[in-house]
Amino acid sequence: MPRNAESTAFRSALEVIRGVEPRVADAIGAELADQRESLKLIASENYASPATLLAMGNWFSDKYAEGTIGRRFYAGCQNVDTVEALAAEHARELFGASHAYVQPHSGIDANLVAFWAILADRVEAPALQRAQARHVNDLTEADWFALRRELGDQRMLGMSLDAGGHLTHGFRPNISGKMFDQRSYGTDPATGLVDYDRVAEAAREFRPLVLVAGYSAYPRKINFRIMREIADSVGATFMVDMAHFAGLVAGKVFTGDFDPVPHAHIVTSTTHKSLRGPRGGLVLCGPELADQVDRGCPMVLGGPLPHVMAAKAVALAEARRPDFAGYARQIVDNAQALAEGLLRRGAKLVTGGTDNHLVLIDVTGYGLTGRQAEQALLDSGIVTNRNAVPQDPNGAWYTSGIRIGTPALTTRGLGTAEMDTTAELIHTVLSQTSAGVGPDGSASKAKYVLDPALADKVSRQASELLTGFPLYPDVELG
Ligand SMILES: *Cc1c(COP(=O)(O)O)cnc(C)c1O
Repeated sequence: MPRNAESTAFRSALEVIRGVEPRVADAIGAELADQRESLKLIASENYASPATLLAMGNWFSDKYAEGTIGRRFYAGCQNVDTVEALAAEHARELFGASHAYVQPHSGIDANLVAFWAILADRVEAPALQRAQARHVNDLTEADWFALRRELGDQRMLGMSLDAGGHLTHGFRPNISGKMFDQRSYGTDPATGLVDYDRVAEAAREFRPLVLVAGYSAYPRKINFRIMREIADSVGATFMVDMAHFAGLVAGKVFTGDFDPVPHAHIVTSTTHKSLRGPRGGLVLCGPELADQVDRGCPMVLGGPLPHVMAAKAVALAEARRPDFAGYARQIVDNAQALAEGLLRRGAKLVTGGTDNHLVLIDVTGYGLTGRQAEQALLDSGIVTNRNAVPQDPNGAWYTSGIRIGTPALTTRGLGTAEMDTTAELIHTVLSQTSAGVGPDGSASKAKYVLDPALADKVSRQASELLTGFPLYPDVELG
């Protein structure tokens, strides 16, 4: 490909958009400029390839394709079938799964598909059998009423939010918490690690229909073989949500007991985090749940997004290339270098380090709340997000943690030496920031004091760090 093909493609697209609504073209250009300038340490973000991005802007967006490959509710889906089948094939091969469903629009949607597939298999199907009905429409009003009650009366066990679990694992503000009676397992207060004996005990007491593993802020790996044994011991369906670490599974950093695919009944993921694809989700499972999973649309999903499935096929093809394993390894090496750099300078880290792509700094060590630390870092050109730590004294809004992750900076090409510099910048800002006082003179959880000259200096150092690692080097918008 000529070196300027990517520039030509994006420039032409912006020119066409500018002809209709120039402010949108300007915002797209500004977004690229902002992303190029920021030291992005948000653990859930990445930079998709130009091929992945370009696969999304086309005529597939115009197609309705409810149903699944070869079994659509609409005519004329032959080309959608092609890209959906390709994306599913790449996902199966990449992860070694027998079935892949690539329609979910996001991680939340993938989880909803999984939950309802499990409920359909374990609650609805037996109820239909008992009533000798083939379809829910064949049930009497009384049987249907009883089934609806039963569907709403199931239990889920997942990781607590402050230990790093996700809102979609049965927490009340999310629909999953309104569907399931949920209990959660935390981590060992001394080590910060998952205590499998405690999980087993909670499972024995609570007898959940679904045991969920997966996280968005736990900096360690989870032994999925042990979790499956726990699920089996109480007859639970074992679901893993690998939204955050799918790239590490794809890149064979997480193998054996730490690869969820051979151990879980069902695995869900996003495609845009460490996996580096388009914004979206997917579900992997064995033959037992495949038919129920394929009913995701129109069961809980709106019409599939064929243009995004095309981009998923491109990104999954990229993840099957040998260099993706090197990328995944580098994500973890970088996270460990970042953790070591912070520890050496005196930072306090949840679990004392990392096995994956993320590091959770306990900023109470700097006398700050997560919110103060997040804002002070942002003033200094470093983009992170605040996050609760286990048994967080500041609650879920202010929090006591800063979550940082390496997938995005690793895509730009930064390595372990640059991670040490990043640790230095973060430590400098946090150690020079102090908590402000509220109107009544008491310590504020939001206000903070940071010398603007220092913030400017660190901002300049952060951009200098990035100059050697251009983002989308072949894209020149002119
Ligand atoms: C990010 C995330 C999700 C949600 O993904 P969306 O695409 O934002 O819906 C679900 N589960 C986990 C564990 C996540 O980290």
